[in-house]
Amino acid sequence: MWIVPESAIPGLVDEQSAFDAIEATFAAMSRGDAYNFPVVREALGEGRQYGFKSGLDRVGALLGVKAGGYFPGNAERGIPNHQSTVYLFDPDSGKPTAMVGGNLLTALRTAAASAISIKHLARQDAKVLGMVGAGHQSAFQMRAAVRQRRFEKVVGWNFHPEMLSRLADTAAELGLPFEAVSLDDLGAQADVIITITSSFDPIVMDAQVRPGTHLACMGTDTKGKQEVEAALLGRATVFTDEVAQSISIGEAQHAVASGLLSESAIAEIGAVINGAHPGRQSAEEITLFDGTGVGLQDLAVASAAVDLAIAKGLAQEVDF
Ligand code: NAD
Repeated sequence: MWIVPESAIPGLVDEQSAFDAIEATFAAMSRGDAYNFPVVREALGEGRQYGFKSGLDRVGALLGVKAGGYFPGNAERGIPNHQSTVYLFDPDSGKPTAMVGGNLLTALRTAAASAISIKHLARQDAKVLGMVGAGHQSAFQMRAAVRQRRFEKVVGWNFHPEMLSRLADTAAELGLPFEAVSLDDLGAQADVIITITSSFDPIVMDAQVRPGTHLACMGTDTKGKQEVEAALLGRATVFTDEVAQSISIGEAQHAVASGLLSESAIAEIGAVINGAHPGRQSAEEITLFDGTGVGLQDLAVASAAVDLAIAKGLAQEVDF
């Protein structure tokens, strides 16, 4: 089996290869060629979460699991709050084929998911990107998003204003002006809004969002988390990576529970990629992507990393 350590990932998988792998995965899920197994997620106390995301892609020949979680004390230790490792297996024999560092890959595959939603659902003339959240993932989200439209400006808001410098620095790296704004201003200016926080209460309210906006809600991946007011999902056309996760651990859990949104109204982004769903149908429509994060995303980017690592001589082979 191959081992690809975390330290090798930065030189291997870039934004484009992550985007391509995840777009193909969402398409395979929607065709029925690939599916995710039920998520196991446990609260360990003191805000720590640990779990397993896994799945099978029959056509892409992927079987595996990402083991990992969220450890909020890690930032003080100088390591990312998310810690994860991906294990790949041969779908025919069950033999392990690879162990891959999953931290950077998680950020890249999550950013790729929201970028895919922007590619397929945002208005073509989108100019202002609104960022809600300024944690570890936010920089990856911004970098992937700006590749999809000709954004001219980034506006941002964060619950902890002292973290906003990450958004300012990332916008500067991308050559875009950045403005820290109120949530009212953010909604008034942004054509695309990405939410990437660990909030358990709605941050973006329905009345703050203009017609025509596209939202990628990426932070809610656990029961109880919430980033936008449930009424907004009642007003928007809602898309997701996987409907089962969207209604149980995703942003849609609240709107579905309160009867503002029906499960049958939620479309898979893969259906849009495959051309089975038209996606955005007017310039006034609000589109909302509920990106819950599925195991197959992790397997797809890990598999790409293994192929690239073998080609570049960066993978270690062990007899297992
Ligand atoms: P982080 O700890 O680095 O940053 C946390 C962010 O949430 C910061 O912007 C912080 O200010 C904000 N925040 C914290 N408490 C808040 C509160 N009470 N109200 C509002 N905002 C609050 O985390 P990160 O690595 O950037 O991840 C952000 C979120 O994205 C997490 O919830 C994580 O679980 C989620 N995530 C989702 C996926 C997916 O596939 N959907 C993948 C990775 C991470």
